[in-house]
Amino acid sequence: MAKIVLEDVDKVYAGNVKAVDALNLEIEHGEFMVLVGPSGCGKSTALRMIAGLEEITGGTLYIGENVVNDRPPKDRDIAMVFQNYALYPHMTVEQNLAFGLKLRKTPKAEIERRVKEAAGMLGLEPYLKRKPAALSGGQRQRVAMGRAIVREPQAFLMDEPLSNLDAKLRVQMRASLNQLHERLGVTTVYVTHDQIEAMTLGDRVAVLRDGKLQQVDTPKNLFDNP
Ligand code: ADP
Ligand code: ADP
Repeated sequence: MAKIVLEDVDKVYAGNVKAVDALNLEIEHGEFMVLVGPSGCGKSTALRMIAGLEEITGGTLYIGENVVNDRPPKDRDIAMVFQNYALYPHMTVEQNLAFGLKLRKTPKAEIERRVKEAAGMLGLEPYLKRKPAALSGGQRQRVAMGRAIVREPQAFLMDEPLSNLDAKLRVQMRASLNQLHERLGVTTVYVTHDQIEAMTLGDRVAVLRDGKLQQVDTPKNLFDNP
């Protein structure tokens, strides 16, 4: 449940596009941090740099005590949930949840324990033998989150994970995410363009604009002093 620190982090894409500009942000151990802002403000780029899916152009990125600027994603001990669920269609829910652990040669009993625990937390027990095609959008998104949970990572990174769901389901999933975070207490960085989502989910909310940090504060303080 590591702390994540961005120190003067920049991202310049080819064509001299400055997507992230001298970003300074400390995400505390166990905190739920939301990155919010309009399309193109650099949210996804910031998240992808934390994940190691995008190279940092300048600055320093820490996960826990370690500078991870040059570490590949698999050595960062984080799990990412995307808006397109990327489930394996030919596998059951149970197999989807177990697959990453199997690859890592996790002992069978440990896999069973973690899969059972994640399925319990996410209300997926009734669907363990189903394939993704036989699930609703919300159920698929829960499986995607379950795959992240079973890894027991240092941090969760989520990029608009609810944006493909309808409004009613989004509200339900927000409640589930809050509960989940309360139970697991894992450091979480959550990207959304939806201000309501940001205010209901975040312990703190970082507002980005044109690649720069405009404000970072609790939802209450942001609401009182917009
Ligand atoms: P957000 O997630 O807030 O919508 P992004 O991080 O996706 O913003 O994009 C920030 C800026 O970087 C935008 O101007 C976008 O067009 C640009 N950008 C994103 N990805 C690339 C890329 N692979 N190559 C060049 N420019 C990119
Ligand atoms: P898992 O179900 O555990 O995510 P995958 O088969 O999807 O496993 O992942 C394959 C590889 O991609 C692994 O080496 C893993 O470290 C890496 N990986 C998986 N998810 C992420 C992520 N969100 N961010 C960065 N790397 C990832």
